[in-house]
Amino acid sequence: MTSRDPRFDILFEPVRIGPKTAPNRFYQVPHCTGMGYSHPQTLASMREVKAEGGWGVVNTEYCSIHPSSDDLSAPFCSLWDDGDIANMQAMTEAVQRHGALAGVELWYGGQRAANHHSRHVALAPTSMPISVAPWQSQKMDIEDMRTYRGWHADAVRRALKAGFDIIYVYAAHTYLLAQFLDPRVNQRDDNYGGEMENRVRLLREVIDDTRSIINGQAALAIRIEVTDEDGSGGDARSQLIASLAPAIDLFDVTIPDYSHEMGASRFIEEASLESYVCHVKALTGKPVVSVGRFTSPETMLSQVRRGIIDFVGAARPSIADPFLPKKIRESRYDDIRECIGCNLCYANDGLGVPIRCTQNPSMGEEWRRGWHPERVQPIRKRDSVLIVGGGPAGLEAAVTLGRRGVEVTLAEAARDLGGRVNGESRLPGLSAWARVRDWRLTQIEKLSNVSIFRESRLGAEDIAAMEQHKIVLATGSQWRTNGLGRSSPMMIASYDDLRTLTPDDIMTGQRPRGSVVIFDDDGYYMASVLAELLAREGLPVTFVTPDGIAASWTEYTAEQGRVQAALIAAGVKIITSHAVSALMPGTAQLTCVYSGASHEISCGGFVPVTSRQPNDSLWQATKALPGKQVARIGDCKAPGLIAHAVYEGRRYAEEFGEAAVTERRERVVVA
Ligand code: ADP
Ligand code: SF4
Repeated sequence: MTSRDPRFDILFEPVRIGPKTAPNRFYQVPHCTGMGYSHPQTLASMREVKAEGGWGVVNTEYCSIHPSSDDLSAPFCSLWDDGDIANMQAMTEAVQRHGALAGVELWYGGQRAANHHSRHVALAPTSMPISVAPWQSQKMDIEDMRTYRGWHADAVRRALKAGFDIIYVYAAHTYLLAQFLDPRVNQRDDNYGGEMENRVRLLREVIDDTRSIINGQAALAIRIEVTDEDGSGGDARSQLIASLAPAIDLFDVTIPDYSHEMGASRFIEEASLESYVCHVKALTGKPVVSVGRFTSPETMLSQVRRGIIDFVGAARPSIADPFLPKKIRESRYDDIRECIGCNLCYANDGLGVPIRCTQNPSMGEEWRRGWHPERVQPIRKRDSVLIVGGGPAGLEAAVTLGRRGVEVTLAEAARDLGGRVNGESRLPGLSAWARVRDWRLTQIEKLSNVSIFRESRLGAEDIAAMEQHKIVLATGSQWRTNGLGRSSPMMIASYDDLRTLTPDDIMTGQRPRGSVVIFDDDGYYMASVLAELLAREGLPVTFVTPDGIAASWTEYTAEQGRVQAALIAAGVKIITSHAVSALMPGTAQLTCVYSGASHEISCGGFVPVTSRQPNDSLWQATKALPGKQVARIGDCKAPGLIAHAVYEGRRYAEEFGEAAVTERRERVVVA
């Protein structure tokens, strides 16, 4: 272990937050986890690992104060009753065990809460449609405000009992208190609507209530945006923020555009909030935290030194590397597993399941499988393994097996390691994805028991002749040209045409001629980045999708609006609700997914993005080899996201040689 570079000392100073003192400036802001109140042990273990990794403050996700604020199917924490206290205490104790402060973000959704599960009616400033459902909220009258304040006060009391050090008043992200602040949403004509002075009344009341209940036992934080929802009203917000400062111990500040704050690296750079939030510290004289997908220690240092922030706020960087602070403290910069900004973590939360991470396969498995982001179980007796293929699955397996002490030989057909990541990270906006490869290569270099053989395509005979008995195939997959995919379970014979190029062909430099039709039957990023690439190179591009919007799955990664805007800006013509049903001479035939009606459009080049064919011929040829234990992982088994391949590599390596595999379930068992 190397000692810390003194330049970074400032990041490891204790910082006071009201009555509490954070041990350093690394602050895991409240972030959703897809775990919520139904997974308290999963949650506590995950948060604990962050505290163990050096985060000085570790917060919950949004924590509902009452059943009328229910966001399911997106999971959230709750402090509705005393049972919740015990569950949340599991987290505070786990976090505090490592010397970190535990914070809770008390949440009331107002017009944003559909209450699908609780069936309560949401209270809001006005009776308007719930943002995600065709029913409305109830306009709060004075009595309702009192009731709501009572719920909030009760939740504060429970939070104190649960042992939280920091309690948030949550006035951002379009939830209730933000709805009151926003002049477009708050259309009230009583003394809670109209002028800012009125719109802020409820927030002030809640702050006063919270402060008097806390009574010095915890710090009071506020999460608030620096403008109104539409980006205007910055000056009025500044005045408001300054006026709140005497009652607040910490400002957690952000902007209303969630696709920016939580922006994918495809569209948003690291540290992009600086110009929006840089005035808050001077305005308030209180500690300020803000985010920016910070992964560079230099950027963190610079923002703290220049007085932009007091705390380095992080959600995703702490997910991708729960040990990021410790690695900086120990000057192990190249060990930092940098977030790639893919937002798959966020997607899982939206899907209602515990978050997973492309870079950190242990995320969400800390309790269930007992995985740790840094530690692995050493193998019990000497063993060796041959890994075939050096894409994300093979590389992750090599790192984890190497760390476990297995003698690893990895054979890769190509000169470069990285597999699909090499081509994909050269596509528009995806350069940060190369971090999946680079982090693993850096780790492999540190492992003397991992030997790499490049330009070594292995066949079944080679494998039969190798001394290793345990072999794992990670040979990847290829995009199909035959039309098989979601829209067509049958092959489409006319796709077999000289005009047809796969995404793999485009990534290796081949180009279509004339007007290009890209058929996105996949719905995630690939078709849209190819469309952007080819359009920017000057080709006329038509993007055809059976969905009603371009790249529909990117809604989960908070990118869809930006993806569609980028296609429009690049001059790509988007045709929705159609599949490419056939190629004809000079044209592509499109069929409406609703009416079945067909029409033709000009087609000089065709790129079907439908599905992938596993490279499983080596598996078929070796799986029954006598004396060998052959397994397969990643895309050659079931083509998936990069995250799936990394996870499979980790899982193979974790379970290698283990007689018993742990997979716990967190659910109620009726006694
Ligand atoms: P995954 O995402 O599952 O890791 P990739 O497609 O990214 O899959 O990587 C698969 C890797 O396997 C590629 O780098 C490819 O060159 C390599 N590969 C495929 N077949 C062989 C083989 N027979 N011998 C060695 N390497 C192979
Ligand atoms: Fe970063 Fe992607 Fe991991 Fe989320 S899933 S933390 S965006 S690498």
